[in-house]
Amino acid sequence: MSLRLVNLDCPSCGSAMRGEGLDTIFFCSHCGGAAVLGNQGLETVEGAALVPAPGRRAQVWRPAWRAEVDVKVHARVRSGGSETPGWAGRRVFFIPAFDLALDDLTRLSRALSEVAGATAQVPREPIRGGTLAFDDALTLIRHILIGDEVRRSDMLASVAVDVDEVSRSLVALPFDVGEGRLECAVTGTKVRIAND
Ligand SMILES: [Zn+2]
Repeated sequence: MSLRLVNLDCPSCGSAMRGEGLDTIFFCSHCGGAAVLGNQGLETVEGAALVPAPGRRAQVWRPAWRAEVDVKVHARVRSGGSETPGWAGRRVFFIPAFDLALDDLTRLSRALSEVAGATAQVPREPIRGGTLAFDDALTLIRHILIGDEVRRSDMLASVAVDVDEVSRSLVALPFDVGEGRLECAVTGTKVRIAND
């Protein structure tokens, strides 16, 4: 086993970034820069923040991936054996990158990807680190898309879904804090806090 110590200084401004345990995603509370821990140390990633909906409070901020992807749904076969038309197109998904139960993660990702639009500068406040690798975010996107196809309830037997990255960035997500839960200030979605 080899132990590697990484300097958590912001690659943009040099300030110390806050991270815990298994965190691989960081926001700088000094300059608002975002970075991911890669093989070569901290690598800068484009960062922004999602804007709270009117009347909602942003008490805490957590990281999420913004993934722009080309989607191709093909080889849709119904249980009778007939093939039905697929589709292709460009979509944007927001996938929370911090510790959440899978059902909460999927629900919040779906809600954010439907409504999220306006972005702003990253707030100069502490933003918790994140742990979800971008490849895992792509896997979740594929699962969401397969779920959408199955929900069309035309007795789908099999389907192929290709997801290709167009661009990636990190966004700070605003939340209101309740008892044992976080309430997304963009969508109103409530999720359980894994460990706080
Ligand atoms: Zn910085």
